[in-house]
Amino acid sequence: MKEAFRRIYGTYPVGVWAAPGRVNLIGEHTDYNDGFALPIAIPQHTLVAARHRQDGRLRLHSAQGGGPVVDLDLARLTPGAVTTWAAYPAGVVWALLEAGHRIGGADLHIDSTVPTGAGLSSSAALECAVAFAYNDLYGLGLSAPALALLAQRAENGFAGVPCGAMDQLASACCTDGAALHLDIRAGAHEQVPFAPQAQGMSLLVIDTRVKHDLGDGAYAALRSGCEQAARQLGLEALRDLAPADLPRAVKALPAHLVPLVRHAVTENGRVAEAVSHLRAGHVAALGPILTEGHASLRDDFKISCAESDLVVDTALAHGALGARMTGGGFGGSVIVLADEGRVEGVRLAVTAAFRAAGYQEPDIFPVSPAAGARRIA
Ligand code: ADP
Ligand code: MG
Repeated sequence: MKEAFRRIYGTYPVGVWAAPGRVNLIGEHTDYNDGFALPIAIPQHTLVAARHRQDGRLRLHSAQGGGPVVDLDLARLTPGAVTTWAAYPAGVVWALLEAGHRIGGADLHIDSTVPTGAGLSSSAALECAVAFAYNDLYGLGLSAPALALLAQRAENGFAGVPCGAMDQLASACCTDGAALHLDIRAGAHEQVPFAPQAQGMSLLVIDTRVKHDLGDGAYAALRSGCEQAARQLGLEALRDLAPADLPRAVKALPAHLVPLVRHAVTENGRVAEAVSHLRAGHVAALGPILTEGHASLRDDFKISCAESDLVVDTALAHGALGARMTGGGFGGSVIVLADEGRVEGVRLAVTAAFRAAGYQEPDIFPVSPAAGARRIA
């Protein structure tokens, strides 16, 4: 990273920062309903090499960006001004300025092993790596959750994606060997030990290679449907609807909002259930919870797709303990929990099923919980 930075900018960086991608074990589309989620950070991460500048310019280069250095004026960072990949890192700097932090410009070089648009949160990894770099470059002293919320602000307010805070909190706050139990409303998070390999199990990511586009309006429509349902029920957010009140809510709502509410309420329940199983050391009990979560996203939220459903069905037919799509939906990745002895069979069966269906070959790799964002050099 240091040599690449020097080739691009002519000097060495003052440091290198890393922020991981994530997979969410359970708790999907719950963050913007003030609810709960349970992500892990994955070993794939985004690196940022950085150096301050005194002239108020922000220069950005990414090995994945596929273009020359993007040169921006800090004083002219306004939402809508940047429409390429550079909106994500520039958005972080904009969010810091908007929050009143005293910062100057920087040269940034970015490189990443997180596949983009695969539901593994490359956008949050990029934002968090930049936020952590700026925090140290300018001695801001912000906490990891505070940086995560600034990163979310960047994605919402500058890149124009109305995501909740789960991705950024996962990238910023996860720790090695644990899942992160997030309570979005309380702004609280707790580490829950998660070590499937210690119990002879493996967590696989299967990237269907179907590219979702969260900016395409479907995500925003789901989010506003949930918010509308909460308003009609007189609640601040769907987080406030107890499972016991679901039948009453169903009667009070227009038919098209009912499945959204059912997902949000049952999904929060699945997070609580998953956490209590993991705390008791019962990793295998997570399996059926994953599969139920998938059914809810497929049937109620309607954000799965044929490829993701094929992965889930094939994995379960070949002995997986559980499987679900992860991330915002409309493609991306599926996670599969399986006993070690079943992993190869699942891998071969999914690959064969994709070939038979005429789909692109999926990318299949195991993950274990990795560390959150940090300075590495
Ligand atoms: P996901 O976060 O699931 O990978 P998103 O659509 O939210 O998918 O974010 C992907 C976008 O983030 C990319 O299209 C690109 O604009 C930006 N991005 C992510 N990582 C990088 C990177 N290393 N270099 C340049 N842009 C990146
Ligand atoms: Mg994203």
